[in-house]
Amino acid sequence: MPLLNLVIYPDEPLQRVARPITVFGPELERLAQNMLETMHAHDGVGLAGPQVGISKRIIVLQEPDKEPKCLINPEILEEDGKEIGEEGCLSLPQIFGEVERARRIAVRAYDTMGRILEFESKGFEARIIQHETDHLNGIVFVDHLDILTRQTKLQELEQIRAQILAGNVGR
Ligand code: ZN
Repeated sequence: MPLLNLVIYPDEPLQRVARPITVFGPELERLAQNMLETMHAHDGVGLAGPQVGISKRIIVLQEPDKEPKCLINPEILEEDGKEIGEEGCLSLPQIFGEVERARRIAVRAYDTMGRILEFESKGFEARIIQHETDHLNGIVFVDHLDILTRQTKLQELEQIRAQILAGNVGR
């Protein structure tokens, strides 16, 4: 399967609220597998539909040495504690920032066959789920930074983006 193309911020549909998924089954499973392959090809740990141009509520993630997860229509039902950690994003290549997230979350989602999933998550995985769920709501991690830092990061991104579009550097 050919890899999906990554959308680079601020391109569409990254700043849009993604639509809920209503059709489950093998085609959705194929999309999830394709998103995982695309994520791995770029050394990512999480990827959301809007990052590959699909404005639908699907995220995939995989922590190092753990099983991959695909969450459809994920909802964060509870949040507990706070933790600051460094984040990057395949849609904001080479940009990093310190983001405060909940330390522990309770999640409800569906798998690709439409079965309900309810679980608790903490630490790095909880951070990935919060980051990816933000993408479904049109939010990127720099939106959590103070306004001056955000501005600086977006200026850096503009230069990196220009180089990528010119084909001078990889992602
Ligand atoms: Zn991201």
